[in-house]
Amino acid sequence: MSTLTLLRRRFLLGVSSAALGLAAGTSRAASLPKEWDVIIVGGGTAGLPAAIFSARRGARVLVIEASKQIGGTLFLSTGQMSAAGTEMQKRQSIQDTPQMHFDDVMRISHKTADPTLVKLAVFNAAQTFDWLTANGLKPLPEHPVLGLAHEPYSARRYAWGKDGGMSILEVIEPMALAEEKTGRLTIQRGTRVRELLTKNGTVVGVRAEDDGGKMVEFTGRSVVLTSGGYASNPKMFYELSGHKQYGNASYPYSQGDGYTMALAVGAYTRGAQNYVCGSPRIMAEVDEPSPPDTRWQTYPERRAPWEIQVNANGKRYLAEDNLSVDEREHLLTKQPDMRTWLIFDQAIFDKAPKGIEDWDQAKIVEAFNRHPMFKKADTLAELAAKAGIDATNLQATVAAYNAGQKSGKDEFGRKHMPLPIAKGPFYSIRQQGFSITSAVGIAVNDKLQVIRKDGSVIPGLYAAGEILGSGQTMGSSAVGGMMVTPALTFGRLLGQQLVPLKS
Ligand SMILES: Cc1cc2nc3c(=O)[nH]c(=O)nc-3n(C[C@H](O)[C@H](O)[C@H](O)COP(=O)(O)OP(=O)(O)OC[C@H]3O[C@@H](n4cnc5c(N)ncnc54)[C@H](O)[C@@H]3O)c2cc1C
Repeated sequence: MSTLTLLRRRFLLGVSSAALGLAAGTSRAASLPKEWDVIIVGGGTAGLPAAIFSARRGARVLVIEASKQIGGTLFLSTGQMSAAGTEMQKRQSIQDTPQMHFDDVMRISHKTADPTLVKLAVFNAAQTFDWLTANGLKPLPEHPVLGLAHEPYSARRYAWGKDGGMSILEVIEPMALAEEKTGRLTIQRGTRVRELLTKNGTVVGVRAEDDGGKMVEFTGRSVVLTSGGYASNPKMFYELSGHKQYGNASYPYSQGDGYTMALAVGAYTRGAQNYVCGSPRIMAEVDEPSPPDTRWQTYPERRAPWEIQVNANGKRYLAEDNLSVDEREHLLTKQPDMRTWLIFDQAIFDKAPKGIEDWDQAKIVEAFNRHPMFKKADTLAELAAKAGIDATNLQATVAAYNAGQKSGKDEFGRKHMPLPIAKGPFYSIRQQGFSITSAVGIAVNDKLQVIRKDGSVIPGLYAAGEILGSGQTMGSSAVGGMMVTPALTFGRLLGQQLVPLKS
């Protein structure tokens, strides 16, 4: 296991970077030069490529990073990327083009993604992916694939390394540190940018707070917001998307600072209508937002369903064996509180394949004694009361399902119905839909310049990464790799675009 992967594990266990002895450039903030060519707010997925490429072109680049370690969401991300026309595909004789990638994104997202940004992303994705592989990223041996947890692509263009996002960070962090060594790039860790400085409507710099609470100002010809999303800020999550943040599984520094700063200088957001939750998880706690604990396998192609799923009203809302993950996620998004309960009886529990892959059967049985999401009762009415579901409806729903199971004609068209839900004890497991990313984004044009609602550019201000919102690069559907790859790509493009090569 690599050092970075070990660090990630420790990071996830809550060991602070200070305890790990990671470099902290805190106290020197005030002593840094005040004027820069490019100021990059956030040294994560998008910020690091922006920094590497602009520094390589000779610019004086300052990255200001709130955390004491660079890498951002790459510490947690699965790091699944999609790119068409890559060297890896060519070696495997896979016929693919950026246009096919574009068409797939628009098809999967039902044309809700932003065509301008999708085009910019997919027509430049192969260069990004090839850059990573040329510098040591090793996709898994069977890659690229059509898809995994999301709607499949029409060509094999989806790939990632064995450590997910960390496999990407292991490639780009050394490049950033090498630039830091040359002195072209300065990374100021443990310093949180609080405000954009403007002069006559142009963004000319930032005001930042170091971890001693001292405010420092820097000016730059270009300011790039790569500070990530707002998925760890429940208040902003609700204000921007209109939905509660039920889950707590995003990067802790994804607080939406960049949104607040951009909006304060005239930017606007878009994409709220594209919010969609992910496939359901079993949460650890009743309080929200809760960390997810585990998941019941609800992908029918991996485990055909024996249970039914009902909402809080005790009603089914889908054919549990619907093969379209996109349809299942949209249906779940529409349920009260995006919650769904698995309902089954003892016979199903005894005969069905295990539902939780990373738990053994004894642990699943034990969960019904102690886990807040697992309930067991002798009657359906009692089960409904314990689980917080409408009891009358649940009984009617189970009766209707059993009738369909007997006749072979399910009201939702479900085909896989091995057993009725007939005899107690009965079981329920509460599952939650939520999103680990930010649907809403700051509006930019095709040059990644932040724009006002009237389309005019806010001079000096650029943005890339999750701050643009999943609603723009993926639309209202989860489209494989369409967050990480655009973040890396837009960061790279900005690094190249902001500092033209001298001829
Ligand atoms: C668990 C998980 C799995 C995922 N898996 C995938 C996947 O497989 N494929 C995919 O396409 N997408 C995936 N995503 C989404 C994707 O990883 C992110 O959208 C992307 O990495 C975000 O990149 P970013 O550069 O915008 O933000 P980040 O990488 O989070 O970087 C932002 C940086 O800015 C810093 N920062 C924040 N505020 C400030 C401030 N005020 N001042 C200074 N610095 C600041 C942060 O500390 C951070 O380092 C996943 C997300 C999660 C949470």
